[in-house]
Amino acid sequence: MPDIACVNGHVSPLAEAVVSIEDRGFQFGDGVYEVIRTYRGQPFAFDEHFARFERSAQALHLSLGHGKDQWVAWVREGLRLSRFPETKIYLQVTRGQAPRDHPFPSTVLPTTVLTFRELHPLDASIRTEGARAITLDDIRWGRCDIKSVNLLANVLARQRAKEAGVFEAILVRNGLVTEGSVSNVMIVRNGVIETAPEGHQILSGVTRAMVLELVRKEGLPVAETFVGREDLLAASEVFLTGTTVEVLPIVQVDGQGIGAGVPGPVTQRLARRWESLTG
Ligand code: PMP
Repeated sequence: MPDIACVNGHVSPLAEAVVSIEDRGFQFGDGVYEVIRTYRGQPFAFDEHFARFERSAQALHLSLGHGKDQWVAWVREGLRLSRFPETKIYLQVTRGQAPRDHPFPSTVLPTTVLTFRELHPLDASIRTEGARAITLDDIRWGRCDIKSVNLLANVLARQRAKEAGVFEAILVRNGLVTEGSVSNVMIVRNGVIETAPEGHQILSGVTRAMVLELVRKEGLPVAETFVGREDLLAASEVFLTGTTVEVLPIVQVDGQGIGAGVPGPVTQRLARRWESLTG
């Protein structure tokens, strides 16, 4: 089967799936989404992702259109039909199709979309050698905790990273590191793992929370606190967390080597723990 889509409950090959140009997702970016991956064919941390999906929708006074049971049934059906070794499951809901006008339409059904595509893991070499990043001004809006489909600032940042030939753009607001364009950022300084606190400035990553749980289980000290760009550059280790990046070492930022310029021991330990959690 090719990539699959499910639009308002209608399942089809992804290439045949359509929504109206009057959809508010298309017109205003008026919608929220989630990306969930499978390990061994099973959706990973589905409940955590769905809880965030609900929180994002609620923050925008948006309805998910159907209850969790229906979304779970669609996910099962998509996985049954697509049958990839591993799948990237995308969930999206928008405020629906209505004549273009900024305020919420009074009667409108939300548009629900799921897609199922093959997940291609990152090159093993980027995990063993570590990745590079640049820092950029965080120009996003004031509610980065909402996983909205309005990703223009993230798109621009990731494009800048691509043009610079590096993996990720690490965003900095008023001198403080918030997160990556598609990931959360953690540093190791004096043996302490430091990462930006939850709040409006970052997306509360499902992977971030699970990695912090691993960190605490390992008995490593943690500080959920903002660090400066200078702290990032001077850290002994830097790594990213996220659904697709998992635990990914960063060995160079803005052309400067981090620590010894190779993946550090704490990052490697957590990457191994992540593998055993998911493998
Ligand atoms: N921050 C941003 C901006 C992201 O897009 C992502 C990826 N969803 C993350 C953090 C990591 O979140 P998660 O671990 O839930 O995938």
